[in-house]
Amino acid sequence: MNNYQPRAPHPRRSVANRSRVGGHATSRNTLRSPGEGLRVGEALGLRRSDLHLVPTATTLGCSTPGPHVHVVGRDNPNRARAKSGDRVVPVRAEVLSCYDRYLPERAACPAAEGCDFVLVNLAHSPLGQPMTTDSVRKWLSLLSTRAGLERRATPHMFRHATATELLARGASIDVVKELLGHSSIRATEVYLHPDVDALRAAVDSLGPIDLGEAAR
Ligand SMILES: [Zn+2]
Repeated sequence: MNNYQPRAPHPRRSVANRSRVGGHATSRNTLRSPGEGLRVGEALGLRRSDLHLVPTATTLGCSTPGPHVHVVGRDNPNRARAKSGDRVVPVRAEVLSCYDRYLPERAACPAAEGCDFVLVNLAHSPLGQPMTTDSVRKWLSLLSTRAGLERRATPHMFRHATATELLARGASIDVVKELLGHSSIRATEVYLHPDVDALRAAVDSLGPIDLGEAAR
């Protein structure tokens, strides 16, 4: 396994597990979980019909195996944008339970009833309308303060942390490139941060230097 040194703090652990703001505990989970490295604009543009959180979605007319989400390029009223265009992103099975916990919160907001977006405002105006990037930034800022973080968490930290963790767990850079929706491998390479142990292991793997008889 490769070892890489993350550059940013891990907001998925440090923020999400230590604070609760405005009754948004499960919507926070829903925001971070289907993320799996999604851009904030991609997450905020998700419609409920884009979530195929089932082992097989053939009955929905989709042949992609396993739970996944469809990132779809659309003109959205909340200005959320799928920068890399349409793509399919696999997600972990636990996302379904996060989404199941979020749905009752959403259902308790009558203003959200007619909205097809996944992530909507449940605690501030305009109630029931799609969340915006600005509202997510303010929300994370508030969480960061309440959690006592030295550094304010941003939406990109979640993406950065996911990419770094994937690489640290041995995912190949071309796989991470596809998961993140990068157009170029060079954009993915910025997440490569080999630490000193990885450098030591690489050198040690070369074996001893053969200095020949004269040196013995
Ligand atoms: Zn699908």
